[in-house]
Amino acid sequence: MIGDADGERDCEEALRAIYLFLDHEMPMADREKVQMHLDDCFPCLEAYEFESELKAVIASKCKEDVPEHLYERVRMSLQIELETSEIDGEKSEKAE
Ligand SMILES: [Zn+2]
Repeated sequence: MIGDADGERDCEEALRAIYLFLDHEMPMADREKVQMHLDDCFPCLEAYEFESELKAVIASKCKEDVPEHLYERVRMSLQIELETSEIDGEKSEKAE
């Protein structure tokens, strides 16, 4: 289709809008526009469903009492992962 480029721009906007959509921080008129896009754009619909499931999971996890140390562990392991990948980068440079 000729309008493909526009379609892609619509998708970018739709994907950005999904977050607002899910947070209910979007005016009704805009919600309808996003909903219409999701109705005939499967990739965006999939992204929307993924985000909404993710949000539901996070919301249900937050309702349960997540122990503070679990947050800490997740945070630490993410940090370690970041640091390790940085160190790896340095190592591979020095290895030459
Ligand atoms: Zn789309």
